Amino acid sequence: MKNNDCIFCKITNGEIPSVTIYEDELFQVILDRGPASKGHALILPKQHYEDIYELSEEMTAKAFVLAKKLAEKMTKALSCDGFNIVQNNKEASGQTVFHFHIHLIPRFINDDAKVGWTVHDITEEEMQSIAKQLNF
Ligand code: 5GP
Ligand code: ZN
Repeated sequence: MKNNDCIFCKITNGEIPSVTIYEDELFQVILDRGPASKGHALILPKQHYEDIYELSEEMTAKAFVLAKKLAEKMTKALSCDGFNIVQNNKEASGQTVFHFHIHLIPRFINDDAKVGWTVHDITEEEMQSIAKQLNF
C-alpha cells in the first residue's frame, strides 16, 4: 500500500526524482538528499510502513540483511573506514519522514558526521531495576 501524502511513497512511485543505487522487488535504496557523509543512503520499502512497529518480521529481516549486504558493498566501493546503520522510529527518536527507512552512513576517519548521544551516569541499582522491567 502507498500513502498519498508520503514523500518516500512519491519517490518509490517515481513521482519525485531520486538517485537510486539499488532496487529489487521490495526495496529501493536512494542517496539521502541531506547526507551526513559521502554515500549516505536510505533503504526504503516500496510499500508504505510508517515505522518498525508496522513492519512484518519477514520484511524487517529482509531490510536488515540488505543493510548488511550494502554496508559491505559500499565500504568496498567508497573505501570508507567505518559504517553507521541507523533507523529512527517516531518523533521522539528523531524520525522526520514517517515511512520506514534504514540509514546507511559510510564513515571516514575525521569526517564531521554526528551519530551519537549524551552519556549519562547510572547506578548498579538503576540498571538492575531496568533489567527487571525488561525481563522478557
Ligand atoms: P529520519 O530523520 O526520518 O530518520 O530521516 C529522514 C531522511 O530523509 C533525512 O536524512 C533527510 O535528509 C532525507 N530526506 C527527506 N526528504 C528527502 C527527499 O525528498 N529525497 C531524499 N533523497 N532524501 C530525503
Ligand atoms: Zn510512504
